[in-house]
Amino acid sequence: TMKLILFFGALLGHIYCRETFVGDQVLEIIPRNEEQIKKLEVLEAEEHLQLDFWKSATTPGQTAHVRVPFVSLQAVKVFLESQGFAYSIMIEDVQVLLDKENEEMLLNRRTERNSNFNFGAYHSLEEISQEMDHLVAEYPGLVRKVKIGHSFENRSINAFKFSTGGNKPAIWLDAGIHAREWVTQATALWTANKIASDYGNDPSITSILDTMDIFLLPVTNPDGYVFSQTNNRMWRKTRSKIPGCLCVGVDPNRNWDAGFGGPGASSNPCSDSYHGPSANSEIEVKSIVDFIKTHRNVKAFITLHSYSQLLMFPYGYTCTKTDNFDELDEVAQKAAKLVTSLHGTSYKVGPICSVIYQASGGSIDWSYDYGIKYSFAFELRDTGHYGFLLPANQILPTAEETWLGLKKIMEHVRDHPY
Ligand SMILES: [Zn+2]
Repeated sequence: TMKLILFFGALLGHIYCRETFVGDQVLEIIPRNEEQIKKLEVLEAEEHLQLDFWKSATTPGQTAHVRVPFVSLQAVKVFLESQGFAYSIMIEDVQVLLDKENEEMLLNRRTERNSNFNFGAYHSLEEISQEMDHLVAEYPGLVRKVKIGHSFENRSINAFKFSTGGNKPAIWLDAGIHAREWVTQATALWTANKIASDYGNDPSITSILDTMDIFLLPVTNPDGYVFSQTNNRMWRKTRSKIPGCLCVGVDPNRNWDAGFGGPGASSNPCSDSYHGPSANSEIEVKSIVDFIKTHRNVKAFITLHSYSQLLMFPYGYTCTKTDNFDELDEVAQKAAKLVTSLHGTSYKVGPICSVIYQASGGSIDWSYDYGIKYSFAFELRDTGHYGFLLPANQILPTAEETWLGLKKIMEHVRDHPY
């Protein structure tokens, strides 16, 4: 009966509220020249095709990843072939991966009833909150929960504070600002457990925490995260509503007060990269900004995204180098080398603008311009085999390798007070 209940539960979830992606494919497209890049932009703007650009190509030879709904598949392929594009199928059927992911979550939930929290599985927001409370209870002298605000739909935005006492200069670390980048929330939670359990055992994290506090926010965009599990796995934005507008949500990583509204952000409320009506319009963004301004002593700002395997630093809103380019580049190169050392995962390093594309209103540009020199953004695994749908069995290797890079950055921050 249990199997049957699970089966019908999953089925009803699909029928009644969850959007399905049966037959949707993700295509990898490689534009050969500027003309083909223009054509891809035109394709992206065709709203009736409902294309979901997982990754854009801005220079010839770069790869674009596009989820194409089943109904548009034929039209898009005919277009690509007639225009002489090189492309291949990256994911055959998106729904097959989603069914597997969902089944694994349900199975894990059953297993966890009789055992400990499994950091190598994806979890609901409620399960994550419970585990946060559990960690606080397990390490009462070191870990606290800090509510930094609430979301548009009034969910608490809770961060960990790791502190050995007093108010020390701080390192800020957040994940999950984009809802569908599930490996980031999972990596953040694993990292929280790692920090807590390694303090007093690993000399490096011990000395970091003897010098600095760490704030870690595992789910920056809780409304989006919940929606990505209950309604639409591909959800990226917040869930804020604007009166008189049918489309919901703002891209919270285009909403920061750094080159707001500039290139690489959309003014169309229906776009996945909509920058919002004004900078800090999203309460999730505003909560972090207020927290950091009130704290007054944050020395590093690190954010986790997926996917692409990149370690980036400012700027995104402009392609000019920052004054600290050389130092940031050196730290990032060293950190990336360590990430690679564990499982051979290759990483690319550089400013956002040169590594991906010009994008305005991003968090680390804001933090850098605010005066937080050590501002970095990770794009975790993979490079596109699964994209946002990274299987749960890659959570632990991803978190473990990322930790080596994070620690390297934190050590540098500890050793270079400013
Ligand atoms: Zn992201």
